[in-house]
Amino acid sequence: MPLVNAKEMLEKAKAGHYAVGQFNINNLEWTKSILLTAQELNSPVILGVSEGAGKYMCGYKTVVGMVNGMLEELGITVPVALHLDHGSYEGAKKCIEAGFSSVMFDGSHYPIEENIEKTKELVATCNELGLSIEAEVGSIGGEEDGVVGAGECADPQECKMIADLGVTMLAAGIGNIHGKYPENWQGLSFDTLDAIQQLTGEMPLVLHGGTGIPADMIKKAISLGVSKINVNTECQLAFADATRKYIEEGKDLQGKGFDPRKLLAPGAEAIKATVKEKMELFGSVGKA
Ligand SMILES: [Zn+2]
Repeated sequence: MPLVNAKEMLEKAKAGHYAVGQFNINNLEWTKSILLTAQELNSPVILGVSEGAGKYMCGYKTVVGMVNGMLEELGITVPVALHLDHGSYEGAKKCIEAGFSSVMFDGSHYPIEENIEKTKELVATCNELGLSIEAEVGSIGGEEDGVVGAGECADPQECKMIADLGVTMLAAGIGNIHGKYPENWQGLSFDTLDAIQQLTGEMPLVLHGGTGIPADMIKKAISLGVSKINVNTECQLAFADATRKYIEEGKDLQGKGFDPRKLLAPGAEAIKATVKEKMELFGSVGKA
C-alpha cells in the first residue's frame, strides 16, 4: 500500500480513544524494524523524520525512495504516513516536494502572529496536495547544551487559533520534554491538556517526548484527546543497549560476527520490541 497522509488514521484514533505512534527513523534498520512491527501487529504507523535525520540519510528524496521501496518489497498493507518532525518552513516545503505524505511545521518559536501566518500558508499547500499537517503551540522542553527546560505549557486560546487554521493535528506543550526526563520532572499538566481539548474539540492532539512518560500518564493523556504520540529516544536507547551488549559479549569477534547484518541485528530486534510495547500501550494494535 502506498504512503497515506495521517488524517484518517488520527481521526479514527481520536474517535476510538487510542493513539497512533510516531516512531522516528534514522536509517534502514530503523525503518524496516518499525514497518515490520506495524505490519505484524496490524497497526497504523507514522514514520517521523527530523531535519537532522533527513540530512543524515542523504536528504528527503533518499528517505522517500527507501520508504516507498520497503512498503512494496516488504508487502506492507497497514496505513503508513511519512512525516517531517519539527520542520522549519523551508524544510516543510522540501519534504512536500520530495514526496512525504505529512509534515509538521514547528513555528512555536515565532511570535504567535507569525506562527499563524506561516502555518496558514503551509495548510493551504498541504490541503491542495492531500498531505496532513501538524502545527505546534508552546515549545516542548528538552535538554539543550546541558540546560534542562521544564517543558512549557501552551496557551489553550492560542491552540484554538492554530487549530482553526485547518491543521490536521496539533502539538501542544503540556509539560512534556524531549529526551530523558529529569528526576525532578513535575509530570504532564492534565489541566492544560483538558483545557486545550475543550477548545479544539475533534482535533487530534499530539504528545511529543513520549520516552519515559509513565504508562498511566500516557493512558490519561489519550483519554483527554491525545491521538498521536512521538517516540524517538526510547528506540535509540534500546538499539544502543542491545548493540553494546553484543560487543561486550565479544560476539563481533566470533566467526563472522563482524558482518554488519549480524552486528546490527540485536539492535534492530530491540527496536521491534520497543515499538511493539508502545503500540500495545497506545492501543493501536489491530486498528489498521
Ligand atoms: Zn517533538
